[in-house]
Amino acid sequence: MNECVHCGFCLEACPTYVVTRSEVHSPRGRIMAMRLGLESSGLGTCVFCRRCEEACPSGVPYGELISAHRRADASTAGMHRLLENPRALASALRLVMKGNGETSARLREFVKEVREPLEYRDQSAEVVLFPGCLTAVVLRQTVEKALKYLRRWFKVEVVNGCCGLPHMGEGERDRAEEIATAWSSKLKGRKVVVLSANCAAHMKERWKGVEVYDFAEFVERNGLELPRVDAKVTLHEPCHAKVVGISGYTRAMLKRMGVQVVEMDDPSFECGAGGSYFLFQPELADAIFEEKARKVGRTGIETVVSSNPSCSLSLGRKFKVIHPADLLD
Ligand code: SF4
Ligand code: SF4
Repeated sequence: MNECVHCGFCLEACPTYVVTRSEVHSPRGRIMAMRLGLESSGLGTCVFCRRCEEACPSGVPYGELISAHRRADASTAGMHRLLENPRALASALRLVMKGNGETSARLREFVKEVREPLEYRDQSAEVVLFPGCLTAVVLRQTVEKALKYLRRWFKVEVVNGCCGLPHMGEGERDRAEEIATAWSSKLKGRKVVVLSANCAAHMKERWKGVEVYDFAEFVERNGLELPRVDAKVTLHEPCHAKVVGISGYTRAMLKRMGVQVVEMDDPSFECGAGGSYFLFQPELADAIFEEKARKVGRTGIETVVSSNPSCSLSLGRKFKVIHPADLLD
């Protein structure tokens, strides 16, 4: 906290500052509130996108600060337990989406289809395909495409679960560390290919001794053959993936396929989902989404490539959204 010199270089990078123009809802204001021990409403409105970290010339580790500061309430902790078990998550989503309350309506707005996670085991697998908890149940077709594609070159098994990123951002940091330790022990020394780019970013930082790759990163680093695809898209860069420097692989993969990318302004600007943010901060989430939708809309392109599931659900309210794996035969 003491590294912050209040320069304000992070302000325009922060989605909540951009839509509120309020210091309270800015990285600088939040750091000041934490430093002074104030009960600021801004501490609850942070999306945990970590874009401020990228913009900060002083190297303030904002993500570490806010994750250490937050404490999950019972409903958030309960939701995290469901994410840890994608089968239970699928059942819970179906049940809640049938309801009449605000949460049910909000979920129906974002989630169009819920399916059981794909189970595919191979004792001799060289590669683990880790869809991520949400991708496993709301983007199962993407999981099937990725599995079919990777099996052309490797023995693959699917492992379902949660990486711990939601816990890290939403007040259960100790649980996030427990999850990382458990996976590190279970998958030590293995190659793990992830279909949720922000989860891949988190896993790269927290899962010790595991070779973690975002899907496009794995394809590009192994030079895997790709089909030619005649398409014109715009590209959303998931925020945490940008922070750890893996966004370029998706762009490289699309280029090798011959896909034409029409660039949007500031492609890693938030999508308006932010994990469970869209449920607990709906007004701010929608204001951020409108800002993002303007950036997408200015490209004149209706298809957005997104490699992270919550971003895809949010953008999917207005645009056609595909994962890079969806383009493969
Ligand atoms: S967090 Fe970094 S960029 Fe933001 S005000 Fe502090 S020193 Fe400046
Ligand atoms: S993590 Fe994102 S929302 Fe939170 S202060 Fe930083 S830029 Fe703003």
